[in-house]
Amino acid sequence: MTDPKPITSLLIANRGEIACRIIRTARAMGIRTVAVYSDADAKALHVRQADEAVHIGPSPARESYLVGERIIAAAKATGAEAIHPGYGFLSENADFAQSVIDAGIIWVGPNPDSIRAMGLKDAAKERMIAAGVPVTPGYLGSDQSPERLAAEAAAVGYPVLIKAVAGGGGKGMRRVDDPSDFADALVSCQREAASSFGNTQVLIEKYILSPRHIEVQVFGDTHGNVVHLFERDCSLQRRHQKVIEEAPAPGMDAATREAICAAAVKAAKAVDYVGAGTIEFIADASEGLRADRIWFMEMNTRLQVEHPVTEEITGVDLVEWQLRVASGEVLPKRQEELSINGWAMEARLYAEDPTTGFLPSIGRLVSLDLYDDSARVDTGVEEGSEVSPFYDPMIAKVIVHDEDRGGALRALASHLEIARVWPVKTNKGFLVRLLQSQDVQDAKLDTGLIERNFATLTQRPSLSARTLSDASAWLLRDSSDFNRLVTGLTGFRVNRNDTARQRMQVDGQSVAFEYDPTPPGSRFEHGFADLQIDGSQFVQVEGDIFEIRWDRSDGGLAHGAAADGAILSPMPGRIIAVEVAAGDVVTKGQKLVTLEAMKMEHSLTAPFDGTVAELTAVDGGQVSEGAVLVRLTAADAA
Ligand code: ADP
Repeated sequence: MTDPKPITSLLIANRGEIACRIIRTARAMGIRTVAVYSDADAKALHVRQADEAVHIGPSPARESYLVGERIIAAAKATGAEAIHPGYGFLSENADFAQSVIDAGIIWVGPNPDSIRAMGLKDAAKERMIAAGVPVTPGYLGSDQSPERLAAEAAAVGYPVLIKAVAGGGGKGMRRVDDPSDFADALVSCQREAASSFGNTQVLIEKYILSPRHIEVQVFGDTHGNVVHLFERDCSLQRRHQKVIEEAPAPGMDAATREAICAAAVKAAKAVDYVGAGTIEFIADASEGLRADRIWFMEMNTRLQVEHPVTEEITGVDLVEWQLRVASGEVLPKRQEELSINGWAMEARLYAEDPTTGFLPSIGRLVSLDLYDDSARVDTGVEEGSEVSPFYDPMIAKVIVHDEDRGGALRALASHLEIARVWPVKTNKGFLVRLLQSQDVQDAKLDTGLIERNFATLTQRPSLSARTLSDASAWLLRDSSDFNRLVTGLTGFRVNRNDTARQRMQVDGQSVAFEYDPTPPGSRFEHGFADLQIDGSQFVQVEGDIFEIRWDRSDGGLAHGAAADGAILSPMPGRIIAVEVAAGDVVTKGQKLVTLEAMKMEHSLTAPFDGTVAELTAVDGGQVSEGAVLVRLTAADAA
């Protein structure tokens, strides 16, 4: 064994928040940093933070961040001694790790053999069974005939999960509840596995009811030492993707923790693990966390997205440990020197729109403030950055640390609630509602929680007349329009007790409300009172952001129609007026239907000149959000 020699220069084969995260520690250790970047990332934060940066290709990751030779060439050209892969991209690619080593560069990660051993889910499970680690009951055999797989599924007992052995990122999995659905699910799982991973091999697992995702952070060095850094709970998932992570796991007693952490260390030792790794377990939490109901699921042979919660409770900088271990040092701490302090929680803030099924929302972050002075914010963007369509649209990870779980929950929710991100849509309001939901507060977690409460969690709150009054007053406070507003209102007198009908645009929809002239409260001290872009006022309610404009047209805005001319109900409510009939010729801006919802009127107007092709709205009828009320054909299309 050679003597440890500190790494003095490091290339980070990644982008975004994780590249920035690694640069931060490397810099603190006095290590020179080299970034790599694609066309889309020429002005990215990680490029500016690094000491040097090398362009490695066009925007698609396949042509840049995933091209191993370019990355190794960049390391050679800049004299970087070591390569840190971050997570995703090439981090779990054993061939890449091997070529880094073959090029005489230090690979900040486990041996390629350990990556291979854990790379395929079936081989990994075999290995764990041999090492005495409990694994989820199931079938791992090489006989992949549909008949055999169906017979094994029946033997395991329904519900079962079909998993692609090469799967990852929640892809290539199918839950099957009924034997009659097995054949179809198998075909579709294999199809996805073929296109995503080029490997159709599957395994069958018992589908765990009330499943909780518990994972253990492990760390090994080149001297044969392995320690664990306790567990994280990542049960709050949407489509098998983690949304909120916390450490420690709620309801974990000392004996259970001891058992699963010991199993994790055993698992890591079984593959001679070096560096940072995570052993993922699945727990049947129907009767709380019990050591005999927690099974090995897989190992991630890299640093995890959610590593900060472990750092917060242990006080360990995991990237620093990675770099020390890669240079040959002994692990900085022994097991008995590690302990849990307080509670940490992380939320993944994404540029995605919960109201459209979480489609990515790309574009410029015109306004961005994540209050990083009072929480840990790991991000790769800043105000003015672009969220590009080429990569994962994560904006930031917001991480809080508190004495207990209640404190961490409150701190995280209030941080997200006031964070300012515009005009890119985010999952902020969704995260706030999730953190404030009763089950999460009570730590009644399981991986299906989000799915079960999907409608409530994705429902944007309605704005009260009070909020709209405040917003309009703020919007017009310094403006000569204020007089126009005042004189334009029917029955408006400068009498504090008076109210008047008022109309504003909320996210492009005309909304009528009773104007309340009492002065705004303190609610605008946080958030958006001071933020006006292009004459719009921004209001945050429960973490959701609304754009409010003074409605000058009175007819509403020429928005609100889907591309096919369908006018949809923006929220659940009751139709209180239908102003057109089928076949009517309408002009742009003409009122079609008025909806009453949450004591407010919303007029939906024609977005273009045309003809009423279809009229589904009925006076007095109840409608759900997204219901088609009217369908128009454009005049020029007729
Ligand atoms: P991937 O490699 O795609 O991340 P995993 O095997 O780690 O796949 O599983 C991802 C998620 O799927 C888990 O966090 C858990 O929510 C769910 N899951 C996996 N296996 C089971 C199972 N046997 N029963 C119930 N849920 C499971």
